[in-house]
Amino acid sequence: MFFLQKKLIMWIIAPVILIILTAAVISLHNSGIPVLNYHIISNQKINALAITPQEFEAQMAYLHNNGYTTISPDQLLDYIQYGDPLPKNPILITFDDGYCDAYFEAYPILKKYNFTATIFLITDYIGINSRYLTWEQVKVMHDAGFTFGSHTLNHISLSEVTNEYAEYQLTKSREAIEWRLKEPIKYFAYPGGFYNQTTPQLLKQSGYRGAFTVNFGTDKPNSNIFALNRIPIFQSTNTFKSFWLRIKFTQLVIDVTAAKKILSNY
Ligand SMILES: [Zn+2]
Repeated sequence: MFFLQKKLIMWIIAPVILIILTAAVISLHNSGIPVLNYHIISNQKINALAITPQEFEAQMAYLHNNGYTTISPDQLLDYIQYGDPLPKNPILITFDDGYCDAYFEAYPILKKYNFTATIFLITDYIGINSRYLTWEQVKVMHDAGFTFGSHTLNHISLSEVTNEYAEYQLTKSREAIEWRLKEPIKYFAYPGGFYNQTTPQLLKQSGYRGAFTVNFGTDKPNSNIFALNRIPIFQSTNTFKSFWLRIKFTQLVIDVTAAKKILSNY
C-alpha cells in the first residue's frame, strides 16, 4: 500500500506540483536581462564554440524582427545597481577572446541590424596573433559604439594564481585597452568562467565595475555585479532552435531545475 502511494505521488502529483511551482516562480519575478555569449563566428567548424556567419545572421535577424534592443554593460549595471530604465526587450551581446572574425563576420551583420556588442579581449594577442583582432579593428568598432573589456593578458585561469599575479593580469590588460581607446575600461569576463573568492575584490581594487561569468542565466536587479550570468550560444544539430529556446526559456529552464531540486527531497 505504501509503495503504491509513493508511486502515485511520483507519477501523478509530482508533475502537477512541478507545473504549479514553475508557474508560481515565473509569475513572481521578471525573467531578467539576457546577456548572450559568443566566441567564434566562422565557416570553419573549429569547435562547439564556433557558429557560422549564416547562423549568426539568422539569430540577429530574429532579435531584430522581435524588437530587441542591444544595450551596453553600463546600461545593464545602471539598471542592476540604480534601477535605471532600460529600452524595451533589452539584450546584451558579448564576445569572448577577441577573434578577428568579430570584425570580419559579426560586425557587418550587427551593423546591418543597428546592434552593438561588447568584446572581451585577451590583450597580449591583439595585433600579434593573426587569429585575433588588431587594435585598428578594435578602434573602428569602438567608434561604432561597441564596448571593450578585458579577458586577461593571456587567458589565464584566475582561480589558480596568486592574488599578486591576478592583480597584475587585471591591471595590465585594463591599461593596455585604456591606452588604445583613451577611456576607462570597466568590464571583465573570467577566462573559462574561473575565479575564486578573492577575484571579485581584486577586480574592484583594479578599477573594474563588473564581471561576467559563463554561468547560465539572465541578470536581475539583485544580481552580483562581479558574477553576472550569461547565455552561451554554440553550435548544435539545430543551432537556431537551441538559440531560440535559450532566449525564450532561460528562466523557465532554471526554475524547472530549481523546482526539480525541491521535489527530489521528497
Ligand atoms: Zn575565453
